[in-house]
Formats: sequence, structure tokens, C-alpha cells
Amino acid sequence: MQSTEFTQQQLIGQAYVLERISRVQRVAGFDECWEWNLKLNRDGYGHGRFAGKGMSAYRASYLSFVGPVPRGLHLDHLCNNRACVNPAHLDPVTRVVNSKRAVERDRLNGTGHWAQREMCSKGLHAMTDDNVYLRDMGGRTKRLCAECVLEGGRRWRREHPERAAEINAANYIKQKARRAALKQSN
Ligand SMILES: [Zn+2]
Ligand SMILES: [Zn+2]
Repeated sequence: MQSTEFTQQQLIGQAYVLERISRVQRVAGFDECWEWNLKLNRDGYGHGRFAGKGMSAYRASYLSFVGPVPRGLHLDHLCNNRACVNPAHLDPVTRVVNSKRAVERDRLNGTGHWAQREMCSKGLHAMTDDNVYLRDMGGRTKRLCAECVLEGGRRWRREHPERAAEINAANYIKQKARRAALKQSN
């Protein structure tokens, strides 16, 4: 954490976060997790407020104690505890680094929905690093078997040849338009 001059809004935010977490735990150390046990959403993240705006509690905490999250970056929970709002446990990283780290951490822990399985859910393919397909499911990243995802696409195309042909044709027209637009701009 940097020691900068905090704005009035940040100081109010800090008081708010500390008041909230002290209701459920005594903040004994600054290196411990600050658990937000008051109101967690379905995914296990706390809900908080900053400058009158509702947002994730960890985000509100980071804004209050550190500052704005750099553009395009996401806050990674270094402690892997979603309920934690300790700004020292939050690291702004790109989305790719964020999911890579989550995979790595859960492989080490052998827990959570990131837990490393040896075989895919169909029991057909080994879940090696080059066979992992990360799909964003409404803010949650799921680890899928790349082989099965590819096979699913192939099967769908076999079962829906007309729809697949339509999509192919639409893509072809789009690509053609894009090439024409590129030509014009050159
Ligand atoms: Zn933590
Ligand atoms: Zn598979």
C-alpha cells in the first residue's frame, strides 16, 4: 500500500470498510484476511458502497485504501478468499493473469471449482495445461476440456448442417465486407 494523501471520499470509504469488517471480526493484523461476512453475493463476494455507489466490497476497499484500479485491470485476490477485502491482498492484474493464477492456486490447494481433475468431466481426455479452455460464464471463468469443446462444435455442425451453412455464409459476407473496407481505407 502506498502512503499518499487520501481524498475525503477515500477516508469516508476507509472508515466504512473498517466499521463493516469490525462488526464480524476484530482486525488483529493487517496481513490477515479482512472478511466481509455481512452480505455476500452468490459467488461469495461481499457487497459494499463507495461514494454512494454500490459495488463489490473488495473494490470499494481498494478504492478507499489504495486508489482507482488501473484501466483494463482486474483485482486478483492473492489470498484466494473472495470474502476478503484487505487491500494488501488485492493485486491489479489483467484478466488472463487473473484466471491463470486462480488455476495455479487451486491446483496447489486441490480445492474449489478450479480443482485440477486428471480427466475431463466426460472422462475421455486428460486435463493437461494445453487442453484447458477457459470460458467466461457471466463473470465466472470455467475450466473446460478443450477437446470436448471442439468436439461439441463439430457435433453441433453435423447435427445442424443448415444452420451451420447459414453461419458460414454470414461470416463469409462479414469477412468480405471487412476486406472491402480495409481496401478502401488503404
Ligand atoms: Zn485475504
Ligand atoms: Zn474431454
